[in-house]
Amino acid sequence: MKSIIQAIGRSAYCIIGPEGATNFAIIKANDGSAVLIDSDIRRIDEIEEALKLTGCREIKYLVNTHEHFDHTSANYYFARRGVAIVASRGCVQAMKKDGEKDFARMLAPAPHIYQRFPGIRMILPEVVFDNTTTVTLPGVSLDIKYCAENGHSHSKGDTTLYFNEDEILIAGDLLYTEVHPVTFFGNIPNWLTTLKPLFQTHYKQLLPGHGPKVEGQQAGRAYFKKMYDYLEDFYAHLQEIKSGRKSAQDVAEYMMSGVYASLGKTRMVERNIHQFLTGRWY
Ligand SMILES: [Zn+2]
Repeated sequence: MKSIIQAIGRSAYCIIGPEGATNFAIIKANDGSAVLIDSDIRRIDEIEEALKLTGCREIKYLVNTHEHFDHTSANYYFARRGVAIVASRGCVQAMKKDGEKDFARMLAPAPHIYQRFPGIRMILPEVVFDNTTTVTLPGVSLDIKYCAENGHSHSKGDTTLYFNEDEILIAGDLLYTEVHPVTFFGNIPNWLTTLKPLFQTHYKQLLPGHGPKVEGQQAGRAYFKKMYDYLEDFYAHLQEIKSGRKSAQDVAEYMMSGVYASLGKTRMVERNIHQFLTGRWY
């Protein structure tokens, strides 16, 4: 399966990961410079190809929507090229705490990455903001907002971006469409609180962290609501496992049937439950 590159505005593009793999976005300025949102070293060729196809001359900023490896692991690659890397303080603190361990764990099955990029390591973003910031390039103003409730929703760094000129909302992993979410790094009750105000936001196009993009605010609201209902339902079922009323197996089956039967990345369901029960991710 290949990624799909789609235009999501006059000067914005998204790279939709195959089978619910991570999405990336490119915002192109009038002078051919650009902002890249998220990047994964394992998919650097796709990102480079997309930058070429969209005619981007130079990346000025790389924004990390949050600390997870699949969103930050090409920081080294772009930092070496002089790109300024932007992230919330929550994201940077989480990377300082667990980033190196995570980096080694995620790259253990991919030794070819170390061969291809000698010296590659976790690189911390150096343009750090607390609550909000705006990145500007000619014809581009990008409002960046830290959204993790009490410092922890899907992740500790959760950040949304709004590209004013093209009216595009980039939700990061606060939103998954058509695939099961990863909840095992998160705090589900806080994540629910973060989602509520997103029901009311304005945009023409909406890009989730994983899964297909969404056109229009009405469809977007429905997806945010689906995400909310999924997390609320899953959390209630996790409590039933805890209290002994249901088995992990019952809940896994439930989360893969009925309204959830069509969702992709079903392997995440068991991992999410496992982490909840054991406190371990792997
Ligand atoms: Zn994530």
